[in-house]
Amino acid sequence: MTATQPVAVITGASSGIGAATARSLAAAGYRVALLARRLDRITALAAELGEGALAVEADVTDRDALVAAAERVQAELGGTDVLVNNAGVMLLGPFSAEQRNDYRQMVEVNLLGAITTTEVFLDQLKDGGGDIINISSVAGRTARAGNGVYAATKWGMNGWSESLRHELLPDVRVTLIEPGIVATELSTHITHEETRQGVQQAYDVAEVTADDVAEIIAFTLARPRRLAINEILLRPAGQA
Ligand code: NDP
Repeated sequence: MTATQPVAVITGASSGIGAATARSLAAAGYRVALLARRLDRITALAAELGEGALAVEADVTDRDALVAAAERVQAELGGTDVLVNNAGVMLLGPFSAEQRNDYRQMVEVNLLGAITTTEVFLDQLKDGGGDIINISSVAGRTARAGNGVYAATKWGMNGWSESLRHELLPDVRVTLIEPGIVATELSTHITHEETRQGVQQAYDVAEVTADDVAEIIAFTLARPRRLAINEILLRPAGQA
């Protein structure tokens, strides 16, 4: 490890796209701060990645925890070059009062969580220039029955990201990644049972992997500083 190695902070690094991104960026020479609630998972991943990987328990809905995480990253890794706002939940189901707790959770994690993490880490990112990678979704550009509030959080992320891009250029690049179905744990958290079973069938045969997405993120970050990739929409080849 050298002090010149860039530092990437990844939220939701305990599984799926976040964990794959941590592995991919560590392989590309980054030191990585792994943020998530499941400390056992991020501790094991940090051990796997070795020196320069830091596990920090943090719920993105808890601003105090994010401030403490940013202080640890500053003290132990020397600052932040890349922030990957990846933490998210996809609690699909028909629009109904019964699902109201799901709606609040999706807004608080997917949208407000990313916004809060970014404002907390912004000074570190501006210090020398950096990158923000916001993990949106195909659902940030489309909507269909049963995904309204999830889509609202991702459409919200897209609008906020575009504004942020204008404010922070040219020193901080802002990139939106919009995946279609990717084989991860995302569908397992759906609380509406009938919806979960239907969505799970699609996820059980998903062919695009978290590693595929992580590779795209690493490619984006490796572009020369004069070039910003603003948005990448990707789907399994067979997804309508
Ligand atoms: P996973 O369920 O595997 O990962 C979600 C991650 O979010 C976990 O690491 C989880 O960590 C974290 N997370 C959830 N709630 C919180 C919270 N309150 N605070 C901190 N971390 C939290 O799913 P994916 O890897 O698929 O999801 C990652 C992102 O990709 C999400 O934003 C999702 O919307 C997006 N996406 C995924 C697609 C897919 O098909 N898989 C398609 C399009 C977009 P922990 O529980 O340990 O806190």
